[in-house]
Amino acid sequence: MQQKLLETVIGNVGGKPAVEVLKILENAKNVNEFLIAKKLGLTINQVRNTLYQLSNHRLITFIRKKDNKKGWYTYYWTLNKKRCLEFLKQEIEKEKNELFNKLKSRETKRFYFCRTCVVDVSEETALSHDFTCQECGDVYELKDNSTMIKELKIFIDRKERQIKNVEDEIKLITEIDLKKRNIKDKRIKKQKSKEKRKRYEERKAEKMKLLKKKGGSKKKIKKKIKKKDKKKIKKKK
Ligand SMILES: [Zn+2]
Repeated sequence: MQQKLLETVIGNVGGKPAVEVLKILENAKNVNEFLIAKKLGLTINQVRNTLYQLSNHRLITFIRKKDNKKGWYTYYWTLNKKRCLEFLKQEIEKEKNELFNKLKSRETKRFYFCRTCVVDVSEETALSHDFTCQECGDVYELKDNSTMIKELKIFIDRKERQIKNVEDEIKLITEIDLKKRNIKDKRIKKQKSKEKRKRYEERKAEKMKLLKKKGGSKKKIKKKIKKKDKKKIKKKK
């Protein structure tokens, strides 16, 4: 599902070469543009052309690194799936709005048509041409809009379903991103508390050493440290 949607939006923007690029970027991050060119058997300029087209719409993003020896930049590309789907949603919404406007005008205005040329014209056009077709000279007939209205409603329904599908996929990506971030946050938190514990143990060991130097039994020293810790906790409170 998501795969097909991505192919649609990428193909709409950059054509066939873009879909080939998508296949490479789909499962990898920060892909070297020279590698993409090599894999697709294209020149670097051909590949860059496609990459720039996609990045103009922010469907892919890049980081660049300078080659210190040669002095030029190499770009590394990453697919932005969420942005792709959001862009696709916008496009379908535009199409839906166009259909909706057509529907409204068919529902509220009169249209005429030429049976020979199979062409519809607005009432204003028909009126200004004396209800005669400019192409063939036939007389315009009043159009029955009901079939077209039915069709437009079906098309609009279809667009709405497509939008819903895309929205579901966007939701899925958002949830996965959130989960990933949570896992990362937890890992950082765990690492931090581990480091804190380590520092605490180090301080404790140092104190023990110091007190030992001054003399005293192990038990007494431990008691002393505990007392100090308690005071600290009280202070914090
Ligand atoms: Zn005609």
